[in-house]
Amino acid sequence: MHKLAIRGGAPSKTKSFPEWPIHDEKDEENLLKALKSGRWGKGATGNLIKSSEDKSFIQTFEETMANRIGVQHALAVSNGTSALDIAIRALGISQGDEVIVTPYSYIASATCILQSGAIPVFADVELETWNVNPESIKKLISNRTKAIIVVHFAGQSANMDEIMTIARENSLAVIEDVAHGYGGSWNGKALGTFGDLGCYSFQESKNLTCGEGGLIVTNSQENFEKIYSYHMTGRLYKGKWYEHYNLGWNARITEFQAAIACSQLEKFNEQNNLRKNNAEILRTELSKIEGIVVTQVIDQVTDHPYHIFTLRYDASKWNNLSRNRFIRALNCEGIPCHIGYLYPIYKNPLFLSIPELLNATNEMLCPNAERICNEAIWIPQHILLGDTQDMMEIVDAFHKIKLNLVELGV
Ligand SMILES: *Cc1c(COP(=O)(O)O)cnc(C)c1O
Repeated sequence: MHKLAIRGGAPSKTKSFPEWPIHDEKDEENLLKALKSGRWGKGATGNLIKSSEDKSFIQTFEETMANRIGVQHALAVSNGTSALDIAIRALGISQGDEVIVTPYSYIASATCILQSGAIPVFADVELETWNVNPESIKKLISNRTKAIIVVHFAGQSANMDEIMTIARENSLAVIEDVAHGYGGSWNGKALGTFGDLGCYSFQESKNLTCGEGGLIVTNSQENFEKIYSYHMTGRLYKGKWYEHYNLGWNARITEFQAAIACSQLEKFNEQNNLRKNNAEILRTELSKIEGIVVTQVIDQVTDHPYHIFTLRYDASKWNNLSRNRFIRALNCEGIPCHIGYLYPIYKNPLFLSIPELLNATNEMLCPNAERICNEAIWIPQHILLGDTQDMMEIVDAFHKIKLNLVELGV
């Protein structure tokens, strides 16, 4: 094997990975169409809609998503964080309530609980799947618990059979954070359709993106009218423009965002299949390497869109080479990857500044989440849009480092 790139050798990667986001003429066409339509937002210019066939990009996007996901109502909003804030408000969660959530997620999965005045209670995750452990949820239910926020981490469904049973038995509402999981399913049923409300993100890094954007889905007309009102500064659905009933936000999406979301959606299925095929190659090949623990995919997960390809690094099998140094060596070989979340949500400075929020002491609240934070390596989704050679060069880089550990002084 050749000298490691971190020591000045030639990198394993011989050509670069696809850039992200990816755009083509269709995106340009849609964007210009929105620009020239004179309909830039979802404002009082509803009068610009000339006929029932003349649809805004926002309407088209919402209808297409509702169809694809298989749900009655889809409301596009400005971003995924707003989607979560609005969803929790729609459930009537407020001060004194508790909401159970995973600590291994993006901060917005838990800040929506704080924004509503309620208290986040952190249930630990499974070491194998990185998703919330249903047994851990059960143990945390109190008479103040009102809801569960389920995150489908990296795009892999959490155990929705067990979680929905727990929710039913304890009369708890369920919000699904599907920011990683558009295109994912559990036993053939689309993620986002199990709970009361499903929240998506189309932020720049996500598998479907329009720069910033979000979506809330529900099968309940009542919930739909609530989320509509909350994203529209409290106006009623089909109500008057200057008549406000609820305390809401302006979380409207623009036509420019929706225009890009529509054209990106046309590319999604092909990209999604490519990611899945490439993830299978990495799964097979990287699982063979001692000291690399590829995250398990459980049988009921019928579609996994792989927002992230995740693995745990066991330094003891790499002569105790630190994870940071290992990642640095991989980066030098031309493989983009990183450690992911620095720590579980509750160890962010925000949470440490309000310790009374914690349902236990600060240390080792959720040992599996802590451990994953210390051992995780994330390979981002757009890397999975490369070709087979790209995947094999990733695998080569891992082997090359293993064979040349002495060069790294370990
Ligand atoms: C990205 C993300 C969000 C928030 O979405 P934004 O559109 O960035 O506001 C929420 N939850 C998870 C798990 C995310 O990854």
